[in-house]
Amino acid sequence: MSVGKCSLLVLGAGPGGYVCAIRAGQMGIDTVIVDEMAPGGTCLNVGCIPSKALIHAANEFHKITHASDQSALGIKAAAPTIDLGATVGWKDAIVRRLNGGVEGLFKKAGVRHIRGRGEVLDGKTVRVFRDGGEETIRTDALVLATGSAPAELPFLPFGGKVISSTEALSLAEPPTALAVVGGGYIGLELGTAYAKLGSRVTVIEAEQRILPQYDAALTRPVEQSLERLGVTVLTRTKALELSDKGLCVQHADDGPSDIDADRILVTTGRTPRIREAGIEGLALTLTQDGFIAVDDRCATSMRGVYAIGDITGDPMLAHKAMAQGELVAEVVAGRRSRWDRTCIPAVCFTDPEIVTCGLLPDEAAKQGFDVSVGQFPLAASGRAMTMEAASGFVRAVAERCTGRILGLQAVGRDISELSTAFAIAIEMGAVVDDIAGVIHAHPTLGEGLQEACFAIGGKTIHV
Ligand code: FAD
Repeated sequence: MSVGKCSLLVLGAGPGGYVCAIRAGQMGIDTVIVDEMAPGGTCLNVGCIPSKALIHAANEFHKITHASDQSALGIKAAAPTIDLGATVGWKDAIVRRLNGGVEGLFKKAGVRHIRGRGEVLDGKTVRVFRDGGEETIRTDALVLATGSAPAELPFLPFGGKVISSTEALSLAEPPTALAVVGGGYIGLELGTAYAKLGSRVTVIEAEQRILPQYDAALTRPVEQSLERLGVTVLTRTKALELSDKGLCVQHADDGPSDIDADRILVTTGRTPRIREAGIEGLALTLTQDGFIAVDDRCATSMRGVYAIGDITGDPMLAHKAMAQGELVAEVVAGRRSRWDRTCIPAVCFTDPEIVTCGLLPDEAAKQGFDVSVGQFPLAASGRAMTMEAASGFVRAVAERCTGRILGLQAVGRDISELSTAFAIAIEMGAVVDDIAGVIHAHPTLGEGLQEACFAIGGKTIHV
């Protein structure tokens, strides 16, 4: 067994860990990063990238299917078929290319990457088990970036026909009947993709509505689209157990019933990976929800130990992990960096997409703001009409007395591209007139942002 030494050891090469290691290497810090998977973590291997590849393929398939039977565009196409194995192969090739890209960035930044399972012995020592042996590494600073894993339901353990998002991204063929337990963004993104690929999809959600983190106005266009796709959405319904037919469920007001399903996709949340790898043995303070508590430098309660990404709690998003990774690298380099972001944009890649940044109207009101809200319907957008995507809207939430933008939201096809404009506006402290006064290119969906701000000032042009 060999013994090594470094200034910074990053455990986990997901978006949090790899960004941290690259930035640290660029600043000349002697950095080691350890991961048992190919670099990129959940996001690149079994999350953001593969799911968006599958969604893109499903959208293309659906477009052609639609053209073959009911397109209003005058396009006629023969009914397509799908070879899902080939689609998965295409997706895997993208993932491999990006894995290689991250590997190259490690080399360029002078970061030592070890493919192996790490076990934390104490806040300054990590043992790594890899092909060909073990290595113990002493480090001045340790960054925990072990991410999260799909949460398992005790009465529906993963295996056989019960799958997590990971398996759902690599199926050999679309299920005939797919039951999705959990109507959050991961379940709905994947459920929508399989509905477009021809599966009969049923979504089971315990709450009153799917995507309960949003308000009803934002989720309604998604519900309507699911209905058009033939997806059955059972709200106020709980999954109970596997049955002979597939899945036994119970609606809040009814007795149990069975749902026919040859695959049951469980997407009821993700669990932080802090009860393994020796992390549970460290004297770390946890939050009430069981995540690692960190301060505004991502420092944990142990000196020299930092935590970033999903293990630090909501929002469990790749770009939050990346921002924390960059921050910690700077802190370790001795800079006086602090977490001072105002907002973190979030996108739900359903059809239509939902994008949010900052506060929803209700959240702003609950925080004591006197708010004014402006909304622009995409039905009035020429660009949305030419894309056959006129359902949805763009909404601005502002503080009434100052005009400061507190939140921006939108629902619509391909509307995720507005997330950057939303984040820039809020992060730069824009007021309504700043956005209303910017010339927006025509015809684009972004004009909706300007019109939503016009609406707050009571001077809409196109509605
Ligand atoms: P992770 O990406 O989970 O990486 C942690 C790494 O640590 C893993 O590579 C793991 O192998 C490694 N590790 C853990 N323990 C050990 C150990 N003991 N030894 C060695 N290595 C270890 N987010 C978005 O922002 N946008 C999206 O569109 C999006 N889509 C998603 C779709 C799906 C299907 C899923 C599942 C997630 C999606 N996410 C999305 C969430 C996103 O993937 C996570 O928020 C992000 O990956 C978290 O990054 P992280 O660095 O904290 O951890």
